[in-house]
Amino acid sequence: MPFHLQKAITDRRGIFSNLSVLAFTHFHPDHFDGYLLDVFKEKNPNVSIITPSTLQRVKDIDCNGIDICPITTTHIGKCKSIFHNSFLLNGAYDSYFVAGDGLIDEHTAESIAKKSNKPIKAIFLNTFHLINKDTTKFISVIKPGSIFLVHMPFEVDDIYLLRKQTESILKRTRIKAEILFPMSEILT
Ligand SMILES: [Zn+2]
Repeated sequence: MPFHLQKAITDRRGIFSNLSVLAFTHFHPDHFDGYLLDVFKEKNPNVSIITPSTLQRVKDIDCNGIDICPITTTHIGKCKSIFHNSFLLNGAYDSYFVAGDGLIDEHTAESIAKKSNKPIKAIFLNTFHLINKDTTKFISVIKPGSIFLVHMPFEVDDIYLLRKQTESILKRTRIKAEILFPMSEILT
């Protein structure tokens, strides 16, 4: 993560100024950095932190009227043994679902239905969900208003050309999704 972005988060500037919860789906290094989290906690002791290790103690968390509900999911691909949570964010009128790197299928849709019967306004997936057949079943049950693709690398880090690959997969799949580029590009 570029330094100016790390600093914007730690100093809670710009779009991060109202940050009240940091929620981590799992401990892979492209999602979690223990050192940066310690720096953040030092400066922001009042911000709630949700990690896979606190989740054993914490259940759903009320964050300014939005319930943050962890939904246990299996990590997609080879890392099935790592503990992983996706998150359902329940607002007053609708909900959002953040898959992280979690495999999403009909069982995930059932777990969501147990937590909320509100319409799912948007779901946040990554490129690998697009090529997993279970995702289509999940989407047909959930019927999200929008699908956003996150987990895109910064342009300088995109050594596997994931952005190009994602665009070409999107042309071939029936899934209608929009790519969200990394935060520093949104902020500049
Ligand atoms: Zn991962």
